[in-house]
Amino acid sequence: MAKNGYDYDAIIIGAGPAGSTIARLLAQNGKDVLVIDKRKDIGSPVRCGEGLGQREVVAMGLDLPKEVISTPIVGAKVVGPNGKEIVWRSKDTNGWVLERKMFDKWLAELAVHKGAEVRAYTRAVDLVKKDGKINGVRMEKYGSDAHDVTAPLVISAEGMEAHIARKAGFKTVHNLYDVDTCYQYEMQEYEHENLIELYFGNNVAPRGYVWIFPKKDKKANVGIGIGANLAKWKKNSGIMGADPKILLDDFIAKNPKLRDASTLVDFGGVISVGAPLDKFVDDNIMVIGTAAKQVDPIHGGGIALALEAGVMAAKVANEAIEKGDFSKQKLFEYEKVWRAGPGKKVEKRLLLRKVLENMSDDDFNHIFNTVTQQDLDLVMQGKFAGPVAKVLAGRPQLMGVLKALIS
Ligand SMILES: Cc1cc2nc3c(=O)[nH]c(=O)nc-3n(C[C@H](O)[C@H](O)[C@H](O)COP(=O)(O)OP(=O)(O)OC[C@H]3O[C@@H](n4cnc5c(N)ncnc54)[C@H](O)[C@@H]3O)c2cc1C
Repeated sequence: MAKNGYDYDAIIIGAGPAGSTIARLLAQNGKDVLVIDKRKDIGSPVRCGEGLGQREVVAMGLDLPKEVISTPIVGAKVVGPNGKEIVWRSKDTNGWVLERKMFDKWLAELAVHKGAEVRAYTRAVDLVKKDGKINGVRMEKYGSDAHDVTAPLVISAEGMEAHIARKAGFKTVHNLYDVDTCYQYEMQEYEHENLIELYFGNNVAPRGYVWIFPKKDKKANVGIGIGANLAKWKKNSGIMGADPKILLDDFIAKNPKLRDASTLVDFGGVISVGAPLDKFVDDNIMVIGTAAKQVDPIHGGGIALALEAGVMAAKVANEAIEKGDFSKQKLFEYEKVWRAGPGKKVEKRLLLRKVLENMSDDDFNHIFNTVTQQDLDLVMQGKFAGPVAKVLAGRPQLMGVLKALIS
C-alpha cells in the first residue's frame, strides 16, 4: 500500500526495457507501483534491430527464456567501403537477436509477477503538481477522459519521445546532428551464419551503417541508420540520395542474397546518438533509458543501457520511498552512479563517434585492409600497442582516431 495518501509509491511512464525493469525491482521490494504505456499491446509494434550483447545481460543476472530469443549470435562480420570483410568471432561478440515483441512483454510480465500494476493503452498527458511539486501523472485510457493518479515519485521511461520529461524541464529535444534516422525491413529468406553484419561507407550509409541482424527461420532485420542532419529533407546539403530508405533499397538491390527476399515488416524510426541529458533527476522525478538519451553513440544500441539504468535507478528509488525523501539531492545518487559507470563508456564512445565521422572512406579502407580478427581480440583485452602500431605504420594521420579509441 502506498503511504501518506498517495495512490502509488511510484508511477512509471513507459513499459519498455527501462520502465519494466525499474517496476520489477521496486515491486519485488514491496513498493506499490503503476506502469502505464500508450501502446495497445506492450512490445508492439517493434521499432528496433533487436540486437543485444550477452555480456551486459549476464552481468545483470537476467536469464532470457528461449521464446524471447530469435537467434543466438556468435560473432560479427564487418565490411569496409571497398568490400573488405573482417569476421570476428569471440566471446565479446556473443549475443542475441531478440523477438522484442516477446522480450518487452516478458519484462512487463516479470514486473506484474512481482506485484507491479501495468496498464497498456494508457497515455501520460501531463504531470500533476501540488504546491508547485510533482505529485502524480494525468493519464488517459484511450477512449476515456483524462484523470489524475498521485505518487510522490514519477519515473519517465518514455523512450525517444519523452514529452512528460520535457514538461518537467528536461532538455529532451534532439538536434538533427545528434540523431540517426533509420529504416528497416524484416526480410525472408536470408541464409546466415549467426553473425551480425555491418556495412560501412559513404555511399552505403553516410555517417552510419547498414546492418543485417539474422533471425530464426531464415529471417533477418535489414536496416540502415544515417546522420539525420544528412537526410534528404536537408535539400541544399548537396548530398545525393541521403534518404535512408533509398539507400537501403539500393543496398538490397545490389546484394544477391537479399534482392529476391520478401519484406515482412517495413518501418522507419529515429534514435539518439548524442550526449545523455545534462541531468537525469529533479525533485520527485527520475528519467531513465532512452528518454535520458542513454544510448550508445556509435551504434545506436539502447536496450542494455535501458536495462542497466532501470537497475541503478531502482536502488535509489527504493531507498527514496523508504525514507520518504524524493529530493533531487537524494535521487541524484542514481545519476552519480550512472555517470561514473556506463556514462564514462558513453562519453568515450561519443568522442570516438566524432572522430570516426571525420574519416574518409580511404581511411576506413586502410583500417579494414590492416586489422585482423587477432588484432580485434587484442584490442578487446586492452592490448592496443600491436594493432595501433600496424595501423599507424601505413597512415600516421590516423593517430587522432587511435587516441580516441584508447583514451
Ligand atoms: C530503427 C532502430 C533500431 C534499433 N536497434 C537497436 C538494436 O538492435 N539494439 C539495441 O540495443 N537498441 C536498438 N535501438 C534502440 C532501442 O530500441 C532503444 O534504445 C530501447 O528500446 C530503449 O528502451 P527504453 O525502455 O528506454 O524505451 P522504449 O523501449 O522506447 O520504451 C518507451 C515506452 O514508453 C512508452 N511511452 C512513451 N511516451 C508515453 C506516454 N506519454 N505515456 C505512456 N507511455 C509512453 C512507449 O509506448 C514505449 O513503450 C534501435 C532503435 C531504432 C529506432
